Amino acid sequence: MPKKDLILLAIDESSVTDLVQKALHAAGFDVAIVHEQMALNNSIQEAIPELIIVGEKFSGRDWLSITDEILGRFPTIPIILYAKQDTTGYAKSALRAGLSGYLYPPLKMEDIVFEVQRCMTRARGLGDWLRREVKRTTASLQEKAKISESERIKLEAIISNIQDGLILLDDNENILMTNQNIRQIFLLGEKPIAGKWIRAVISNADLHALLDQSKADGVKYYEIHFDDGKVFNAQYTHIPRVGYAITMQDISYLKELNRLKSDFIHTVSHDLRSPLTAILGYMELIERTGPLNEDQTSFLRRLQESVQHITNLVNELLELGKLEAGFDVRRETVHLQLLLKHSLDIFEEQIKKKNIKLKTVIEDHVKAIHANPIRIRQMFDNLIGNAIKYTPAGGNVNIMLGMQANQALIKVQDTGPGIPLEEQNRIFEKFYRASNRPEKVEGSGLGLAIVKSIVDSHQGRVWVESKSGEGSTFVVLLPALES
Ligand code: ADP
Repeated sequence: MPKKDLILLAIDESSVTDLVQKALHAAGFDVAIVHEQMALNNSIQEAIPELIIVGEKFSGRDWLSITDEILGRFPTIPIILYAKQDTTGYAKSALRAGLSGYLYPPLKMEDIVFEVQRCMTRARGLGDWLRREVKRTTASLQEKAKISESERIKLEAIISNIQDGLILLDDNENILMTNQNIRQIFLLGEKPIAGKWIRAVISNADLHALLDQSKADGVKYYEIHFDDGKVFNAQYTHIPRVGYAITMQDISYLKELNRLKSDFIHTVSHDLRSPLTAILGYMELIERTGPLNEDQTSFLRRLQESVQHITNLVNELLELGKLEAGFDVRRETVHLQLLLKHSLDIFEEQIKKKNIKLKTVIEDHVKAIHANPIRIRQMFDNLIGNAIKYTPAGGNVNIMLGMQANQALIKVQDTGPGIPLEEQNRIFEKFYRASNRPEKVEGSGLGLAIVKSIVDSHQGRVWVESKSGEGSTFVVLLPALES
């Protein structure tokens, strides 16, 4: 037998309760009657009725507070108010309170059943709609969850299949995710690393330096070296609301190519040196063999200048070769102030000739460095030489020596033509000469490559800050000695 719908009556007047009960029984409903508040609560708790009829006053309480309480807990239960008389005031308040119907004397059986059935049909319609909506929303949420799960799997597949190594970190340097390549690069095997502090998992000194320097001065690229000779180019990128990404690209073959190229240049330069010395020697002998006419003397001068130019180039290439091959091992305590002074002495003449205004600022407490004095002097000569060479007559050259944290800081600033942004990295390459340099300024394009090699071999950093047309500032940082 199908279960009958349960109607709960909470009305004080027994004559009304009897009539309503009779009418509803006859219409096929189950009826439960309660006489006081506690029973009403228990009854609703035990079996939620399909509908409740509440009297205007029940168990000493006002209908509004009772129905408020019930609807607060079960907002979809239909409630009918039984009022002792019909007033528009009651009808309005019942509607406002969220009740479904309203009964008043004289009560007729068919009116009671009609009102109960009307309210239940409406409540069922509402219930069905609610269920449909919940089902639809749940299905769409499940669909969305399915999509984001499949997106996640896709993303993971992409990340694990890219050839570069990839590490994702949160703001506290804890590992969020890595791909398989990173495990191979750092020989991590299969050990669990997610959520761990990267420095505790990977002990590579270059990687730690990248993390330190990126934090301190926003470095984006760094070379990471391994004992087996492999070299990776690491890029450090900030990802808002995630943390940081480090990508690592194997550049060992590029390094090897570079080494082969340097070896080749070195061999050629070496082989050129002896014939050049011979040419210079014989040119001097020509002058001694007998008097030369004016033209012959002029041609010989030009020949000598050209050969001298090639000799300088060859010497610079050999220097660079030595530096790149790591032959520069001499280290001693070096006071930058002294080397700077010696370097400025040799440029005194040129500075005067070009009427350049030179300003030198040396801060107190500039610490000494552990370095090869000959190389550091060469670095000063090249940077200051360029500043004077590229600055037009009457311009300014400012030199500054100071400290930045525990590093010695050198700045060489000029009011020359500046360097276009897109060429600023390239000027440290061998033979690269920027596009906006004045035509007549001579050079080999090797000076800054030598500077970079020297600074690198002293574990320092060099870069340029410049804008085309607004001068350049070359900045060098070198690790200082502790005391
Ligand atoms: P170069 O022998 O051509 O001076 P460098 O290696 O010393 O070679 O410099 C490379 C290039 O960088 C130069 O050709 C020039 O274009 C640019 N450069 C270097 N220093 C400066 C400077 N102080 N001002 C403007 N451009 C500079």
